[in-house]
Parts: sequence; structure tokens; C-alpha cells
Amino acid sequence: MTDLKTILITGANRGIGLELVKESISKNFSVIGTYRNKHKSQELLKIKSNNLKLFEMDVVNEKSISNVSNNIKYPLDYLICNAGINNGYGTFFDEDHTHEKMLEVLNVNVLGCILTIRYFSKNLNTNAKIILISSIMGIQKHNGSNATIYRASKAAVNNVMVSISEEFKSKKITVSSFHPGWVRTDMGGPNATLSTKESASSLIRNFESLTFENTGKFFNYDGSSMNF
Ligand code: NAP
Repeated sequence: MTDLKTILITGANRGIGLELVKESISKNFSVIGTYRNKHKSQELLKIKSNNLKLFEMDVVNEKSISNVSNNIKYPLDYLICNAGINNGYGTFFDEDHTHEKMLEVLNVNVLGCILTIRYFSKNLNTNAKIILISSIMGIQKHNGSNATIYRASKAAVNNVMVSISEEFKSKKITVSSFHPGWVRTDMGGPNATLSTKESASSLIRNFESLTFENTGKFFNYDGSSMNF
């Protein structure tokens, strides 16, 4: 057994996921990062730390998730479902919103969380915390005419989070979702208000202070409560 807290982060090769990896290492966590394409993961693969283990994993490929869950040595204290896509910033009628792209967004953002949590449930430590990275764009009040399917997917992520929190209540495992802020990543774009460091350092602090009383709830990256 390791005395270090173990955290698994999906979509760890870039953006918020990569910074969550760096922050977790600096906090002396034992870190498991997953990435799906080694050619797009050079910065992650170059990180030198005895506390970092990396696995190839696609959150919508059950075989790859199962393979990682069977190869993890230590129980997970934190399971962070971060991987996500936004294939369609356009308005409702834009050609960008093809059926195929819409299915992909729902598949990765919603089913990816469900599959990840289902396969790693056997790896969870007592009092583990499961975090789904959601978005303010999933909130009804914050709705707008762009990125229809992305908004729907993040509303679904929050809904799934509440259902799953019920499933894990008897085991005293906390399940919550977080909006990471508007962050300068490939997805957030260059005009976003937060750096990945600002978002990830605040997120990790708030993951640590999360208690079982917070299960089934949605939070902003700074720890404040968010409505659905
Ligand atoms: P990003 O820079 O575009 O990174 C997305 C990550 O998800 C990449 O590591 C990507 O891997 C991974 N990913 C996508 N599909 C995957 C799959 N099928 N299996 C495994 N990994 C997959 O985005 P980000 O800004 O860091 O976003 C991270 C999370 O925060 C997402 O859930 C996003 O919706 C959420 N979020 C972001 C913002 C923002 O302002 N940036 C705001 C609200 C919510 P590849 O490199 O292989 O594609």
C-alpha cells in the first residue's frame, strides 16, 4: 500500500487534465494519468516523476478502460472524469452540428463519464471521491444558441452525477461535479479568463476539501455552489 493519496485523471495529456496532473504531483499525490494518443501527449510523457503512472485509455472504449482498471496497483482516492469534447460551437442550424458530431459529443462527455466510473468502481478506496468535470454551459439559466449539443451533454453530466451519487451513498463515496472556469485551453480558446494553473490549483484544493456532505452537488472551480 502507498501512504500517498492516489488520483486518476482522464484526458491528462493537455489542457486542464495536464495541469491537474502537474498540480497533483506537486501536492505529492500518487498520480495516474490517461491519454488516448501518444503522438498528442509528448508534454505529459516527458514529465519525470516516480509518482506518475501513465496509461493509454479512450473513455468510450470499454476494453481500454477495463485494461487500465485491471492494471492499477493501489486503490483510488480520487477519480477525475475530465476528458471531454466540444464539436460544434456553431448555432443550432450550422452544418457543424451533424448527427455524427452530436453523437460523438454525447458519447464522450456523458457515456465516457459513466463508463469510466463503472469500470473504476472496483478500484475505489473507502471514502473515495468521484469528480465529473462539467460546465456552466450545462446550466439552464446560462443557456444560449451556440454549442447546443455540448450544453445538453454537460446538463446530462450533472444529471448523471446526481444519479451516480445515489448509487454510491451506501459506500460513503462522494460524487460531485465541477465547472473548471473559462480556461485557456484548446477548448476554452485564447480569450478565456483563467490559466490552466489557476483553474487546476483551485480545483485540486477544492477536491481535497470536498466531504461526503457534498455528494450530489455541483461546484464552481473556486468551491462555490452552482445551481443546475
Ligand atoms: P481540451 O484542452 O480540449 O482537452 C480535452 C482532453 O480530453 C484532451 O486530453 C483529450 O485527449 C481528452 N479526450 C477527448 N476525447 C477523449 C476520449 N474519447 N478518451 C479520452 N480522452 C479524451 O479541453 P479542456 O479545456 O482541458 O477541457 C477539459 C474538461 O473541462 C472537459 O470536460 C471540458 O468540457 C471541461 N470544460 C472546459 C472549459 C474551458 O474553458 N476550457 C470550460 C468548462 C468545462 P486528446 O488530446 O486525445 O484529444
